[in-house]
Amino acid sequence: MTASPTPTTAEELRGAGLRVTAARVALLETVRAGDHLGVEAIASGVRDRVGHISLQAVYEALHALTAAGLVRRIEPAGHPARYEGRVGDNHHHLVCRSCGAVVDVDCAVGDAPCLTASDDRGFAIDEAEVVYWGTCPDCSTGRSS
Ligand SMILES: [Zn+2]
Ligand SMILES: [Zn+2]
Repeated sequence: MTASPTPTTAEELRGAGLRVTAARVALLETVRAGDHLGVEAIASGVRDRVGHISLQAVYEALHALTAAGLVRRIEPAGHPARYEGRVGDNHHHLVCRSCGAVVDVDCAVGDAPCLTASDDRGFAIDEAEVVYWGTCPDCSTGRSS
């Protein structure tokens, strides 16, 4: 089998059934280049690429891309939502209670759902999402010095 050429961002949007706009392309590129960015950081990344865009338009584009499965939204309790371009692999997250840093953790067990509920209550479970809470190295170091 020959490797198929990597689709462009615009082709991926089209493939997901979305209308292609400069803002959506810029948004997807920003989210993928970033590391669990919040909405404000995404908005400034999009503005760097395509010029002014309202926060409302950023929210709308994020909603469309999240619904289409191109972007994953993570929402650690008590922290603003973050967005990432790493989707569909059932990875988990470490979250720092102090600074809110978010770090990926590969699923240790395998395919989704990588955790088996002790009682599935009849649900057909297809995903398990785990948040590991703690203190990141930067915050640990800062505290002790
Ligand atoms: Zn921290
Ligand atoms: Zn992640």
